[in-house]
Parts: sequence; structure tokens; C-alpha cells
Amino acid sequence: MDAEIIAVGSELLLGQIVNTNGQFLSRQFAEMGVNVFYHTVVGDNPDRLKKAIEIAESRANLIVFTGGLGPTKDDLTKETISGHLGKKLLYNQDALTSIVAYFEKTGRKMTENNKKQALVLEGSDVLPNDHGMAPGMVLTKSEITYMLLPGPPSEMKPMFLSYGFEALYDRLENHDRIESKVLRFFGIGESLLETEIEDLLVNQTNPTIAPLAADGEVTLRITAKDVSREKCMELINEAEQKILKRVGEYHYGNEQTSLVKELVKELTARKLTVAAAESLTGGMFQEELTSLPGAGKIFKGGIVSYTNETKAKLLEISEETIAQYGVVSKECAVEMAVNVRRKLNADIGISFTGVAGPDQQEGKPVGTVYIGIVYRDGRQQTEQLNLSGSRNQNRKRSVKYGCHYLLKNLQEDQN
Ligand code: ATP
Ligand code: MG
Repeated sequence: MDAEIIAVGSELLLGQIVNTNGQFLSRQFAEMGVNVFYHTVVGDNPDRLKKAIEIAESRANLIVFTGGLGPTKDDLTKETISGHLGKKLLYNQDALTSIVAYFEKTGRKMTENNKKQALVLEGSDVLPNDHGMAPGMVLTKSEITYMLLPGPPSEMKPMFLSYGFEALYDRLENHDRIESKVLRFFGIGESLLETEIEDLLVNQTNPTIAPLAADGEVTLRITAKDVSREKCMELINEAEQKILKRVGEYHYGNEQTSLVKELVKELTARKLTVAAAESLTGGMFQEELTSLPGAGKIFKGGIVSYTNETKAKLLEISEETIAQYGVVSKECAVEMAVNVRRKLNADIGISFTGVAGPDQQEGKPVGTVYIGIVYRDGRQQTEQLNLSGSRNQNRKRSVKYGCHYLLKNLQEDQN
């Protein structure tokens, strides 16, 4: 099946809302193994909608509409399709009953135009609306399947998942499924990662492997197509093993996760607490940690020691360290981590000091950052970064590196 999704609504064309229905449906179709070749957006205008339908019929055998099923004058999707296909609109008793019930339940007065919502296309299968009034419908004519869904995402999504999916699945000639898995990497650039797995990227057709770089991270989406979910997962696992064999040391998680989420998970599992001393990151590490539920169990607190004076006063960084090595130094990073850990009685101390930019500092170029990590048992680690972004990119990237190094340590400890 080749699909086209037509979102109906002038507010989409005016830029007042985003076509999230199109995105949702595309994702669903990908999972079903239905190709989506076109997204169309058209206003609440019968002539232009009719033209859009004619174009879609020339290039798709599944046309999915969202929007325009409501009671008002500008809702004309059904009416337009009815005229175009020569199918009458008939009252559907179930839909009418549930509309009446809906008004009784909400205590609102039902007006005559609301009955219009119970009209469905002759010969269609009706998709009940459990979260609103207008039902959806599916019908096939001349080997083209038309599916009509309401506009509000809160109605459209559950309708598709509860009834639409099933109705289409029955009409699919081949029941191939598509499954995918996202692997997340940090600490390796996109081009290096691609080079490491180039032969896999080029030679794989099922599953396919697609890299994507964003915010200093690289993700690989592995997508497999086969008759069942199990078969797809077998193909995916096989490809995953091959990938991890080569670049596994940079892999930190799968699907919708982040470095900081994985870090919090790891600290929680090991019942460890952390305290932070931040200079160039100005509290961003602490902000990231505390944005997650459960942070209270693993995060003790921290000190934002931005100026030299604060470093000396609150963190008790020694004058000699600052005079001899400067604040952007390995030595200062370690001392910051050691002192904050001790002061807040945490298991781990982490520190960030460096040159965010735009100006250099202490003769050190923009992007020079030191991260210190120390443990209760006295183990110490420092990492030097040479970042090349803007001021804020450098600050954000530093936080990610801090999470990355600490996470790696914890994971390695475990092995
Ligand atoms: P209603 O019964 O609420 O009138 P409807 O089926 O007639 O529903 P529309 O009138 O076209 O649908 O849209 C109703 C609302 O649904 C819009 O104001 C908008 O908030 C949301 N909506 C419509 N289409 C989309 C879309 N493609 N993506 C995201 N939201 C949408
Ligand atoms: Mg409407």
C-alpha cells in the first residue's frame, strides 16, 4: 500500500498550528510497512480539497484525511468526498446515540448541526470516537482506500490506534511489519563513527542503518522489515551486535534516553551521591540532574564558583593553585572536585572549569575545559576538552562530557 496523508485545515496553512497528525500517522504507517510517499496540507475549501483528492488518487491507493469532520460550516471533508465519490451521507445510529449521550454527559445543549457529525459515507466502516463526537470512517472504492479521521489529535490518535490500525491492517495485501531501534553514542564524531561502520552502512538493505548527528551526539536508527515483530528484532539484534563490536565503547543507551538520564539511573542503582562545583557551566550540570525525577536520591548539591574570589571563599581553592596553574587547569579542577565532595559529604565530586568564550583566559584558548571527577576512596580523574563551539555550545557540551566520563567510569567499574 502506498499512502498519502491529507491534512485539511486552513489554520495549518496559516501557520497557526503544526501538522502533528501527519507526523503521528507517518510513524504508524512506517511500523505497519505502509509506504508514505506524500503529505498534503489543504485549507477548508471544497474545490481545492477536491483537487487534492484527485492528485492523491493518481499516486496512492490509501488516502488518509485528518480534520474537517466537525459540526461547523467549514468542516467539509465528508461532504467533499461524498460528492467526489458519488457516495451518499447517511445517519449512523451508533454515532448519533453516542453524540446524544455525549451532550447528556457534559450537560451541554445539543444543537441541530451536531447531528451532522453522525453522517457517514454510504458503504464505509465506521471508526468510533471514544474521545469526541465525530466518528471516523474507512471505505474502499475502485481499489483506493479512503480513511477519514477527526482533526483534534486527542481524538485522532486513540481512534487510529483502537480502530483505524485494525481496519487498515485487514486491507493490507502483504503483512510486513517495520520495526526500528535507536542506538545512542557520545564521544565519537559522526564522520568517525560512519567510517568505522561504513561497510555496514553501505551494504545493509534489511535492516537499514541510518546515522543522525545532533548536539554533539550521534544516533543510529536500525530499521528492519519482515513478516513479524520477532523476525524484525532478530535482524535488528544481529546488526546491533556488529555495530557494537566496532564502536561499543561510545554507546551509552537506546531509544529515548539521554546521557544525564543514564547517569541518574546508574547512580541510583549504585546508591551513590554526587556534588558539583561549576565554573564555566554556571550550574547547568546541576540543572540537568535536578530536572529528572529521583535526583533527590543521588544529588547532594553544588557550588557555582564563577569568580576567583568565590572559588577561594566558598570552595577554598588554594591561592597557590590559582597563582601557579590558573583556574583553567587540571590542578584547579581536581581541587574543586575534592573540596566540593568533602564539604557536601558526597560519594563523588565533579567539577567544571574552562574558557567558554568568546575571549581567551589565562592565555588558554576558547574551548579549553577541565573536568575533575573524584571519589570518596581518593581516586581522581581529570579530562581536558578542546571544544570548538560558541560560548553556549561549549558550556552545554562540557556538561555532556561530564556526564559521559562519569557514566563511563561507573559502567566500567561494574564490569
Ligand atoms: P472538530 O469537531 O473539533 O471541529 P474536526 O475533525 O472538524 O474537529 P478541524 O476542525 O479540522 O477538525 O480541527 C480541529 C482542531 O484539531 C484544530 O483546531 C487543531 O487544533 C486540531 N488539528 C486539526 N488538524 C490538525 C493537524 N493536522 N495536526 C495537529 N492538530 C490538528
Ligand atoms: Mg472542525
